[in-house]
Amino acid sequence: MTIRSVAIIGLGLLGGSIGLAVKARGLAVTTTGWDRDAEVRARAAARGLADTIAETPEAAVAGADLVILCVPVGAMADAARAIAPGLAPETIISDVGSSKAAVAEALAEALPGATIIPAHPVAGTEQSGPDAGFATLFAGRWCIITPPEGVDPASLEALSDFWAALGSKVETMDAAHHDLVLAVTSHIPHLIAYTIVGTASDLEDVTQSEVIKYSAGGFRDFTRIAASDPVMWRDVFLTNRGAVLEMLGRFTEDLTALQRAIRSGDGDTLFDLFTRTRAIRRAVIEQGQDDERPDFGRDH
Ligand code: NAP
Repeated sequence: MTIRSVAIIGLGLLGGSIGLAVKARGLAVTTTGWDRDAEVRARAAARGLADTIAETPEAAVAGADLVILCVPVGAMADAARAIAPGLAPETIISDVGSSKAAVAEALAEALPGATIIPAHPVAGTEQSGPDAGFATLFAGRWCIITPPEGVDPASLEALSDFWAALGSKVETMDAAHHDLVLAVTSHIPHLIAYTIVGTASDLEDVTQSEVIKYSAGGFRDFTRIAASDPVMWRDVFLTNRGAVLEMLGRFTEDLTALQRAIRSGDGDTLFDLFTRTRAIRRAVIEQGQDDERPDFGRDH
């Protein structure tokens, strides 16, 4: 089974990037896009995010081999219900949501009997909307597929091949494991960035202008993550609640241990941790997940 036509529902960063990547890589795949917002549809048509921009969700999915829902995780059920009347029985339904167990459950409830194979491309930026997408977003990045038990092997293979054709490295795991791993690698880092930027902006004895003026000391790197889409991230924390709270408990314990080390002047503990974390940065670069240039390659 080969994917020849894809319907993209939600034409923001992820949806737009899928459409642009299909085109840029010259895949023999036709794309049809739909977004609930007429202005987004107009912008998507102007940028050529899909071969066709449909006016209704039913028209977007008619005849599609694969439908990919690219909306915030809290909107997956609504989007699934909107496309339901136009779906053919053999169409594969997938998504790009950042949390997986809750999305799998929502989709199964909204589309009983459909072939549903959730997925999460671990690739993104802090930008959103129809102008944010770009063709190389998935190149060399992981796409984690979380197939439900009893999945049709041919459909799973077709979906994996599609993501590989977009340049992704593909991995499969169960949804609960995905949610725990991503809580550590993505969700908690976002929560920390939101907290630290919020705390700094609330400080009464540091004026706003000083926070911005001296931001190159480290603060500005957190502001990139803390600029991420508020709707998307609200939904991630609400749908991955269990794993995030579990990992937050671990994080809080580690933070308390560091607090104790600083208070008691325990330099060895600080030095040992900072040495271990430096090695992790090296591993991220060695595995091609970031640029090796200092300071993310910024001009100085
Ligand atoms: P985005 O740029 O905000 O795009 C989402 C689009 O979906 C918006 O145009 C939105 O329209 C539209 N939409 C919302 N509800 C809809 C509905 N019920 N039916 C049709 N369209 C609807 O968001 P994104 O960054 O592409 O994120 C999309 C998904 O990818 C999310 O589930 C997110 O968790 C996941 N993801 C994001 C990243 C990242 O870094 N951004 C990375 C990996 C995965 P409105 O503006 O009118 O709401």
